[in-house]
Amino acid sequence: MGVTLPIYLDNHATTKPDPRVIEAMLPYLSEVYGNASSTDHIFGYTARDAVEKAREQIAHFIGARAANEIVFTSGATESDNLALFGTAEAYAEKGNHIITCVTEHRAILDSAEKLARSGKTVTFLPVDHYGRVDPQDVRRAITPHTILISIMMANNEIGTIANIGEIGHIAHEHGVVFHTDAAQAVGHIPVDVQKLNIDVLSLSAHKFYAPKGTGALYVRRSLPRIKLAPIIYGGGHERGMRSGTLNVPGIVALAKACEIAAKEMKKEAKRFQTWTTWMLDQLRKELDGVELNGDPIERLPHNLNISIEGVESKSLIIGLKDIAVSAGSACSSEKAKAEPSYVIKALGFGEARAHSAIRIGLGRENTQEEIEYAVHRIIEEVKHIRENVHSIISNPFK
Ligand SMILES: *Cc1c(COP(=O)(O)O)cnc(C)c1O
Repeated sequence: MGVTLPIYLDNHATTKPDPRVIEAMLPYLSEVYGNASSTDHIFGYTARDAVEKAREQIAHFIGARAANEIVFTSGATESDNLALFGTAEAYAEKGNHIITCVTEHRAILDSAEKLARSGKTVTFLPVDHYGRVDPQDVRRAITPHTILISIMMANNEIGTIANIGEIGHIAHEHGVVFHTDAAQAVGHIPVDVQKLNIDVLSLSAHKFYAPKGTGALYVRRSLPRIKLAPIIYGGGHERGMRSGTLNVPGIVALAKACEIAAKEMKKEAKRFQTWTTWMLDQLRKELDGVELNGDPIERLPHNLNISIEGVESKSLIIGLKDIAVSAGSACSSEKAKAEPSYVIKALGFGEARAHSAIRIGLGRENTQEEIEYAVHRIIEEVKHIRENVHSIISNPFK
């Protein structure tokens, strides 16, 4: 088959920057190098104008009312930290209770655990077999002391899309701030902060074809107006919520990625959906014991997470040298890597399912030939592993 190896299928970890995004940001890495806060001269205000234009594009892309509702950060990890620590401090007089869920990204879980150690009360809601949080569980968990609900829009391992609109509605009925980590959703599925009742939203540039190191936090300015205490202090940039010289090239790139997604997302999603459906069908046709992890319908179109009975994801991934898939999230700690996925475990199917989970994340550059090749290789490798296991079992002296 005419494919170039290796094939990248790990687009939930990061994506390859789109050439159009790189082209748009290049001038801001060279000639247009001014500090966006140094507006006493043309160098500074040229940079500032680019940032403000980008801010408007990004705000528009996620349905925000005003450009100044966008706060630039270094990525979704920082946005998540700012959302949690920032509301915990700003609303400390109102209450001390936070609601989140067990399948969140570590940026949320670790921040929430830190808040719990410093005296806040945190509820970690469970999920069902599909990885969905029951909005009624959210409602029941709310107390008069609840100040924040943080539920991710789309899961980075299993692709399950949460019922964000309903959870946001429940939060607003109770006057509680609603945050969502939308790092996997923005640029892939339609996101509208007004329609979905979102107050605070995290996004990350490198998850949708822009470079790493830039993100944003949407912070609602009206109905209701959200206050956030900063976690980084300095020059008072970003309305005091996030000090530090702005990453102008990264911000321009992020806006370009939004512009491209606005035009191409829908068509792209359709293509990915066809491919993931086809892949699952093929795998099930050729192999026994293939289970889909996550919601079969409410899922990211470019995600496929499967567990293959009796096949350890680690052995499978080692065998699949020419295709880049992953056993779970891209967390860097060695401890986290040795453990099976906490997200798959939370689905309630037992440890074995978590030990045999592999995540496939399709991207803009993938071709039909690559998808066909990947499926062919997975089937081949699983059969190979199963035959070896079988021969070991049937011949104990081998
Ligand atoms: C990637 C990711 C993050 C972290 O984003 P960075 O920009 O890499 O810091 C947070 N949450 C989710 C759901 C993610 O997928």
